[in-house]
Amino acid sequence: MESIFLKNKLKEIFGYTDFRKNQEEILNYFLKRKDLLVIMPTGSGKSLCYQLPAAILPGMAIIISPLIALMKDQVDFLNSKNINSEFISSSLSKKNLLNIHDQIKSGQIKMLYIAPESFTKEDTINFLKTINISFIAIDEAHCISEWGHNFRPEYRKIRPSVDKIANIPIIALTATATPRVQRDIMQNLNIEKGGIFKSSFKRDNLYYEVRPKIDEKKYLIHFIKKNKNKAGIIYCHSRKTVEELSEFLNINEIKSAPYHAGLDVNIRSKNQEDFLKEEINIVVATIAFGMGIDKPDVRFVFHYDIPKSIEGYYQETGRAGRDNMPSKCIMFFSDKDASKLEKYNKDKPVSEKLNAKLLIDEVRNYSITPICRRNQLLYYFGETNIMQDKCNNCDNCINPTPIINSKNQAILILNTIKSLNQPFKEKYIAQIIYGDFNSKIQSHQHDKLSFYGKGKDFGNINYWKVLIRQLLFKNFIDRNDNYLLKINYNGINFLKNPFDLKLNETKDFTKINNLSEINKNKEKDEKLIYNEILYKLLIDLRKKVAKNNKIESYLVFSDSILEDMATYFPTTIDSLSRITNVGTSKAKKFGDKFIKEIQKFVDENDNIEPMHTILYKPDKANQKDRLYLIKQIDRKLDLEELAYSKNIQLEDLLKKIEEICYSGLKVNIDYYINNHLVKERQEEIYEYFHEAKSDNIDKAIKDLEYEYDEVEVRLMHIKFISEMAN
Ligand code: ADP
Ligand code: ZN
Repeated sequence: MESIFLKNKLKEIFGYTDFRKNQEEILNYFLKRKDLLVIMPTGSGKSLCYQLPAAILPGMAIIISPLIALMKDQVDFLNSKNINSEFISSSLSKKNLLNIHDQIKSGQIKMLYIAPESFTKEDTINFLKTINISFIAIDEAHCISEWGHNFRPEYRKIRPSVDKIANIPIIALTATATPRVQRDIMQNLNIEKGGIFKSSFKRDNLYYEVRPKIDEKKYLIHFIKKNKNKAGIIYCHSRKTVEELSEFLNINEIKSAPYHAGLDVNIRSKNQEDFLKEEINIVVATIAFGMGIDKPDVRFVFHYDIPKSIEGYYQETGRAGRDNMPSKCIMFFSDKDASKLEKYNKDKPVSEKLNAKLLIDEVRNYSITPICRRNQLLYYFGETNIMQDKCNNCDNCINPTPIINSKNQAILILNTIKSLNQPFKEKYIAQIIYGDFNSKIQSHQHDKLSFYGKGKDFGNINYWKVLIRQLLFKNFIDRNDNYLLKINYNGINFLKNPFDLKLNETKDFTKINNLSEINKNKEKDEKLIYNEILYKLLIDLRKKVAKNNKIESYLVFSDSILEDMATYFPTTIDSLSRITNVGTSKAKKFGDKFIKEIQKFVDENDNIEPMHTILYKPDKANQKDRLYLIKQIDRKLDLEELAYSKNIQLEDLLKKIEEICYSGLKVNIDYYINNHLVKERQEEIYEYFHEAKSDNIDKAIKDLEYEYDEVEVRLMHIKFISEMAN
């Protein structure tokens, strides 16, 4: 078709002056009535690729879409453009359905949206046989593949149903497809002879970062306050987290609205509207939010919990920066969250469960791998050809981990893979090299391999996984559709003639354990979460206060509390006492001097505002939890039982109790201590803390020459802070 003709139609019907990238090409191809698969990122304008042909071609087009909620919007939009459209879903009344059938029969409808369940019904097929159908568009086509992140079994019945109706061209569209899913779609729809239009998944304007999920709330507040008036989405897994987090932000004077499928429809659409109209800047949402939303200037997307798959991650982060302006995508990663996700899947059928686990594993690997995030995404979506050395717009490029010469490690890895007579996954290979012993290794007798356990002295399983990944990206190893690894030609050559190989060291998230550690690893402009000058003044003050009270500094206020003070500048006892872990009693006991110091600092620095209204309120849930613990301890409940009932380790329970003590409350657990430690042993640990210069438990265990375990040391530490500091 003439390109002038298409452009005129584009203007006439949709009012757009120009085609976007790929659109015109796709239209030209499809208008020849040939099958095709379109893979383009969300928001790039896929819909137009079938809406325009539907308007031009004789007959009615059918659009199969899994999201009934979106059909109505689409239909309204098209009708407003004078393309007569309707949708059929199972929720339609018989009367309405017959009415639509009548309109279709009389040729009034140009586009019919339908859910796959309705489409594949016998009745529907028989009806459609009598209609002139121009083509069938299959939206969200990755739902066809069980390897995708959104498998919908009914999607696999589409092709047989189409065949029963007539010989009709098919256009399948999706925003995310790995090479494997892509093949699956084409095979299942039997459109392998058709064309593929795939636009790149590279989004240069998006900055990607993965942070350990530590002090995440504090970081969020800090980030959002720094990015005032910018729009952002924060994704969480559960509805509960969505509501809690949104409330938490609101308490901290950040206007936000929750969004999840459990909310009343009216509230939901109001929140969405408010976001689009910029009445609010922040939406806290489950992944139900964002589909069909077209807001070009979302400046940041947070994954508060880890995404379920890289596909999901890509799609959700893809909602940032559609206007091509720089935008940030930040994920909080914790291994605990990954395990939690796996648990959610435990009731699924075996194959689905396995696939879900694979997808989560990929997210895990993505998070811990210290190489360019953009490259990792490109690799995942099969675009190895456009990978560059570095993108310089992700945390790993900007803050690389140290480079190590990994020649020997690479030799060990490649030899191990080569020696196995069948391909295995990354994790399993890492386990062999590390010398892990599990039933799988046992049954394969891989503990008998000469390479077994040879890597133990270098690092843990994660260390090896990360190196294996990098060899994969450096193309020494091939990975098949089932994520199984095989050494390739390059790898064999390397073994023949090994050379120095620079790989990045593992990013050990577990080592980063407080905000100041994170601060050290931050980009320059975000370095100062707290005011360093004030922080130093407060450290000095703390020393004096400690000396006067004849106690150790950390018993006055911990480092992290001082950091908070230097972040939020509390100048009243009330606001000070609301900082996490500062209880009212502690604030009253030591706070006076500190708020005076802060006031002085604020007075001397015009650009600093004290915070009268408190900005970082602890969670309600956390407070409730503490209250509960205190009550149970008052009732002298066995601590082991208490830990068991809360489904945590005793050590973790003791940590929680320690925090309570730090906040200035006295907690008496003598009843438990006396039952578990004889007097002399109690005294030895207690004396130790009297002399000790820090509250580091690991150091205490070591200094006490490993005579005591963590539980014993923590028990006495609790007693000590409770009695000495509070
Ligand atoms: P996708 O389905 O790929 O996620 P959409 O089809 O919803 O994306 O398109 C995203 C937005 O881009 C829509 O608001 C659409 O109207 C707009 N759009 C599509 N094509 C063009 C074009 N050629 N010119 C201007 N805007 C366009
Ligand atoms: Zn990068």
